[in-house]
Amino acid sequence: MAKKVQDALKDIISLCKRRGFIFPGSEIYDGLANTWDYGPYGVELKRNIKNLWWKKFVTSRKDVVGLDSSILLNPNVWVASGHVGNFSDPLVDCLDCHERFRADHLLEDKLGEGCCAGKNFDEIHDMMVENKIECPTCGKINWTKPRAFNLMFRTEIGVIEGEGSKVYLRPETAQGIFVDFRNIVDNVRPRIPFGVGQIGKSFRNEITPGNFIFRTREFEQMELEFFCEPGTELDWYNFWRKYCFDWLVNDLSVNKEKLRLREHAKEELSHYSNGTTDVEYEFPFGWGELWGIASRTNFDLTQHQNQSKVKQEYIDPVQNKRYIPYVVEPSLGVERLLLVLLCDAYEVQKLENDERTVLHFDPKVAPVKVAVLPLVKKGQVKAKAEELYEKLLGRWNVEYDETQSIGKRYRRQDELGTPFCVTVDFDTVGEGESDPAKLGFVTVRERDSMKQELVKIDELEAYLAAKLGC
Ligand code: ATP
Repeated sequence: MAKKVQDALKDIISLCKRRGFIFPGSEIYDGLANTWDYGPYGVELKRNIKNLWWKKFVTSRKDVVGLDSSILLNPNVWVASGHVGNFSDPLVDCLDCHERFRADHLLEDKLGEGCCAGKNFDEIHDMMVENKIECPTCGKINWTKPRAFNLMFRTEIGVIEGEGSKVYLRPETAQGIFVDFRNIVDNVRPRIPFGVGQIGKSFRNEITPGNFIFRTREFEQMELEFFCEPGTELDWYNFWRKYCFDWLVNDLSVNKEKLRLREHAKEELSHYSNGTTDVEYEFPFGWGELWGIASRTNFDLTQHQNQSKVKQEYIDPVQNKRYIPYVVEPSLGVERLLLVLLCDAYEVQKLENDERTVLHFDPKVAPVKVAVLPLVKKGQVKAKAEELYEKLLGRWNVEYDETQSIGKRYRRQDELGTPFCVTVDFDTVGEGESDPAKLGFVTVRERDSMKQELVKIDELEAYLAAKLGC
């Protein structure tokens, strides 16, 4: 399994390193397994994803506000939320090779998603035996019984060691929103229904991280908690499911055929949820969760009210009612979405006498929007190209490249997913034996069709803005 996964993803991983999207973490010290650094193009891609999410889910909506809460929270937050008691996965050890795995994942690989829903550890153990689950590393069937492995990273705060100073790195950003619910309601006074959106790092000590950036121990989440009146939550749940799916397809141009909504069966639902759907994507290693959308009733706010003794009620001034709001939560990983966009965009195209690797990013997502390429690196051609580069740079992330042949430069930009290349040649500046009809025109080459068009320099910025849509 691990080998196959590596094969399917290896071209994308190699492109990511070669072109400065994603590097293995701490590489000069032989690395730190499953950590990744985002290079100059990766960081742009990530930033674009976060900005687009923020705009769609926070600033463009009248009913959503933003928040940036702490990574370190009072440990009682995690007692109330259930993470201290229950945020664990079933860990099994192979007694032959001593590798550790998640029992539910091993079973799901063979029997399908949701097969462990509602099962206790003894039942999971029996399923492992009955289904002759082999160790993915050594192929033997010699497992320990599953035991609970808590995924929260623990650390100490301050200078005194001991129980009193123990804190956790947050395993989700959501609880920061619940903890600030009172503050937002009392000070900002939004009317229900309203949402609070947050983007930030989360940490989980995953048993089996892997599949490149799909599952890591440090990752970023983009989460929305949408508070509503009890009884309206399933309408909002359906609303957000559609809103999220449509955003992927319509705004980010993700291939609809590779997406599906998987509604959790009753047995699979958490005890507090009355509806959960995973938006799944067909990765090179199979279908995997991209986005979790859950109707979480009033569980979290009620738990925090009980633990903190601070009322979490909302007083509806119009209906003169008091209630603890219900909540619908769409929760999405930045890196998961980044991997979806990479897999979706990646193509190796056979051309007549050649081959090219191209990332067909939606222009809004693309890390570089435009590349300015002088045909030669001297004289008026170079000067004009530099002038254009400086001008466009104020508006978009633009790259200037004057090395090697124009064909090679186009290929380089294709690999970065740059939607447009602008070439300045002798005709543009009227140098040498140039065509006077083309004076003041540049050649704009579109990435996907590779079609070239002559555009007047004065009209270039407006032309690009219309085509890029951003
Ligand atoms: P799983 O059951 O696969 O461990 P989960 O259902 O616990 O995942 P959620 O708690 O619903 O995951 O997390 C919400 C979103 O956060 C996920 O849909 C995913 O996009 C992202 N996410 C969760 N865990 C990780 C991780 N370890 N690495 C990267 N992204 C993650």
